[in-house]
Formats: sequence, C-alpha cells, structure tokens
Amino acid sequence: MVDQQVMERIKNCLAQGQRFAITTHVNPDGDGLGAEAALANFLEERGKDVYIFNSNPVPDNYDFLNPDKKFLTYDPRKHQEILLTVDYILIVDISDWQRLRQVGRDIRDISTTKICIDHHPSQEKVGEVRLIDQNACSTGEIVYQLIEYCGGPFNKTIAEALYTCLVTDTGSFKFSNTTAKSFEIAGKLIEHGANTHELYQKIYERQSYNKVKLFAYVLNNLHFEKSGRVAWFAVTYDVIENLGVQQNDTEGFSDYPRVIDGVEVTVMFVETEKGTTKVSLRSKGNVIINKIAQEFGGGGHPFAAGIMLNGGYKEYKDKLLSEVYRLFT
Ligand code: 5GP
Ligand code: MN
Repeated sequence: MVDQQVMERIKNCLAQGQRFAITTHVNPDGDGLGAEAALANFLEERGKDVYIFNSNPVPDNYDFLNPDKKFLTYDPRKHQEILLTVDYILIVDISDWQRLRQVGRDIRDISTTKICIDHHPSQEKVGEVRLIDQNACSTGEIVYQLIEYCGGPFNKTIAEALYTCLVTDTGSFKFSNTTAKSFEIAGKLIEHGANTHELYQKIYERQSYNKVKLFAYVLNNLHFEKSGRVAWFAVTYDVIENLGVQQNDTEGFSDYPRVIDGVEVTVMFVETEKGTTKVSLRSKGNVIINKIAQEFGGGGHPFAAGIMLNGGYKEYKDKLLSEVYRLFT
C-alpha cells in the first residue's frame, strides 16, 4: 500500500513547485522511462517546467515516449545549473545512489527536496520524501495512484506511458509481481486511452534482425548446471561488436530460459565495452536471488535482480555461479 500521508506531501510539492527535474536509473527500462514520461506530462499540463535528466539516451523501442525530445542525457557542463536550481527533484524506479551515476553524485548532498517513487527493496534511503511500495508491480503502478490522488486528469499520453511501465515490468502480465491491482490499473489506463496493441507493437515488434540473431546465439550457448535447475549464459563484448548490436539489446533475454522445464534460476552475463559486466539474475519463484545480487554489490527484487561488476565476466563467473549453485545443495 502506498502511504497516504506521503501522497499528500507529494501532492503539495507538485502543486507548489514550478520547476521540476526527473531522473531514473542507469540503462533505463520501460518502467523508469514510462514513469518519467507520465509525470512530465502531468506536470506540464499543469503549467510546470520539467527537465528529464538520465544517464543514458532513450533506447529506440521506447522513442514513442519521447516525441518532444525532452529526455536529456545528463551532461553536468550543460545541465548541472538547471538540476541544482529546480524546486523539486523526482527520482523514479530506483532507491540506490550509485545507479543514478553522475546525477546522483550531483544531487545527493544538495538541500533541494528529492522525492523518490519506487518499488524496489533497498537498504538505502534515497530522497527526503519517499513513496515506496515493494508490492507494486512497477513504479508506474505507484505513479498511477499518485496522479489519481492528485485528481488527475489522465490523458492518452499519460495512460500509454503508465501502461508501458506495467506491461514491461510484469513481462506482459506474466511475472509473479502481477496482481489484481495491476490488471485493475491496466484496465483504467485502457479506459484513459492506452492502445495496448499499438503499444505492444511499438515496444516489442521493432527489433533489429541482429538482435534476434543475438537471441539465437544466446539459445545456442546456454549452460545447464545442478541437474538443469540453473541455466547461465554469457554475451561477451566481442559477440556484441560482431553483430553490431547494443548492450541493452540483451534486455529480456535473461527472462527467457525460465520457459525450460526444470530451470529455476537464470544467470546472464553481458560484457560492456568499458570493461564492466552486467549480470541479470532471474528465478522462477521458488528461490530468492536478490540476496546474491546484494552480496556482489547489486540489488533488485526477490525473483529479478541485477549487478554491475567491474571487469570481464570470467573474473566473476565461478564465484557468482557457485553462490547460485549453493541455493540447490
Ligand atoms: P535487470 O536484470 O533487468 O537489469 O534488473 C532486474 C532488477 O534488478 C531490476 O529491478 C533492477 O532495478 C535491479 N538491478 C539491476 N542491476 C542492478 C544493480 O547494479 N544494482 C541494483 N541495486 N539493482 C540492480
Ligand atoms: Mn521497475
């Protein structure tokens, strides 16, 4: 449940402030971007000035959330002055300073009130005002309730942005975070104008052939351990470069091996150009994997978690996988 007192406080901040900055985590996903787009539209409709500063550009499949090119890739030389002088800063879909990268470093100690809206379990307290609901399927679900609490209005843009949050973070309403409330809110968003089929096509049916080839590579290079209960795979930077794809083109791949009968946990390693390795952990729901992510400096939900490691995947593979194998001994 979202806290009514906190909602009231945020409602007042949104009414009183004139200039707002919004940000989300590094490598933003549909939930982070959708929540930003919805809040930006809601505030702009009320005559506010809104700046969106993220660590990365909007991935191509989410470009429909960014028709006015409002999403800016944060560059302190160009944007710091604005960021440090807005009335409020909204931080969505993240409760971890490190994953806010330079934006996080620039705002952490300033006196501006920072409002965090999130559904991740976290040890860290990010922001002075925190609207956190770990039971929400997505940050979009919380933003929906906040906008409703503020009296709306909803419009097609907001509805489509929030539907994007819900559909992407629930794996199209398949994952264990999907609740009656997720469906109820999705239904309301359709009433407010979200075209679900068009959104499906925009988000999921515009992939490059090379991304699909990368997926074929992944399926051909799965490793199974612990009698088929753990499936892991690695995408090295060489593979990414040879196919001419991006690191975020692996989004969603870590979910897939769970379709295989007997697989309980999936581990995906993706190497980036800068010598870091992104790890995604997924569980079918019988074992909790975010504790392992936390041990390695990452975090996330009980059945979907991630880590960013410094170095190539081979440096960490054995250590990390042995922790995963321990879940099955
Ligand atoms: P994904 O594997 O899709 O990137 O992330 C799965 C979940 O783990 C998401 O909820 C995401 O926010 C979280 N997550 C991914 N990477 C990291 C990380 O490096 N640190 C933390 N704290 N959480 C992460
Ligand atoms: Mn989310």
